[in-house]
Amino acid sequence: MKYFDIPSPCYVLEEDKFKHNLDILNLVRSASKAKILLALKGYAFWRSFDIARDYLDGCCASGIYEALLAFEEFGGREVQKDICVFSPAYKDCEIDLLLPIATHIIFNSFAQWQKFKDKIKIKNKQLDSLGLCKIEVGLRVNPLYSEVEPPIYNPCIPGSRLGIVPSEFQRGLEEFGLEGIDGLHFHTHCEQNSDALKRTLEHFKKHFGDYISKMKWINFGGGHHITRIDYDVDKLICILKDFKNSYSDVDIFLEPGEAVGWQSGFLIGEVVDIIYNEMNVAILDVSAAAHMPDCLEMPYRPNVKKISINDINGDELIEEDKGIGVGKYIYRFGGPTCLAGDVIGEYSFDTPLNIGDRILFEDMMHYTIVKNNTFNGVPLPSLGTIRDEKFVLLKSFEYMDYKNRN
Ligand SMILES: *Cc1c(COP(=O)(O)O)cnc(C)c1O
Repeated sequence: MKYFDIPSPCYVLEEDKFKHNLDILNLVRSASKAKILLALKGYAFWRSFDIARDYLDGCCASGIYEALLAFEEFGGREVQKDICVFSPAYKDCEIDLLLPIATHIIFNSFAQWQKFKDKIKIKNKQLDSLGLCKIEVGLRVNPLYSEVEPPIYNPCIPGSRLGIVPSEFQRGLEEFGLEGIDGLHFHTHCEQNSDALKRTLEHFKKHFGDYISKMKWINFGGGHHITRIDYDVDKLICILKDFKNSYSDVDIFLEPGEAVGWQSGFLIGEVVDIIYNEMNVAILDVSAAAHMPDCLEMPYRPNVKKISINDINGDELIEEDKGIGVGKYIYRFGGPTCLAGDVIGEYSFDTPLNIGDRILFEDMMHYTIVKNNTFNGVPLPSLGTIRDEKFVLLKSFEYMDYKNRN
């Protein structure tokens, strides 16, 4: 496979790395008996779901579009897969569309549950008469504890929209009870190791422990960085088993997004021009603002490789970035938009960068494709996969994809 054979720009899944992630998740599933759902919010690259389906129990959806994608491309109750939906607030028309496909609906308030519980009851009678699994209903709670930084990713900051706080839970309990509630859900992690889950569970139990044994399941949310090299998988399995020992009839759900797509592919772009303004600035056909928004939002600096062609034998020469200011040749990488801050970062190499070189940004499958936009009319990168060491182009975009959105 040659990198120069890939159209630029393009997101490329590396299927062997993707399967490696899925193997780890599958190991957690079988060792702990917890169910693991794919969170589409972080990874909706459905062109790989034929692979993922064999390893995971279903999908976690944040609303009607994600639920529909899960239903069409991953499968729902008809094929024994779960479609677990959470939204901060559902509209009537959304619930109507969710009822035929969701297996679990999680509400963010007692009021929303009350508003829709009769509709769910009617749907469940119908499902029951057909011998199909009923829709299970959950409440998202806020255990008032999260170690996530920065605050934009922390669902437990004061004034958060996400999850019922303990005092509101008590009020709801007194007014409506929990009859008809099958599960509780918390989602308070982001890129965290299993020790954070252990500490979080203490807070969850402190506030909501009295209700756990009344539930069919507890959903521990996403943000578990299970496939990262230094993640303590054994500890996670211990935590899950301990929980199962204390509450034997209660199932556990985990819903990772990032951990599914973690380090499973790259974004490749090319150097279109190199200008000089106190330093060398390379202008690429990939953009931080349009294609890698977390570079600006999180913020973080992706790892890169530079790929050039050897003039003598035509081979591809690959050089890894040497770090900020370490290599002899230093470049700032920026995108093709008019946003002054569309800067990906500073990189350095032992050999000079040339116009036409390819730049490979590592770990670009999660929270990138799903966040793409056509700001400034910048073309959307193509989508491809490396299967059996061969590149396969899956989808390219065109002008009409931009026009139709405006
Ligand atoms: C974002 C989110 C997830 C997935 O989180 P990751 O950090 O991608 O693992 C799971 N569940 C809910 C409710 C979420 O909002």
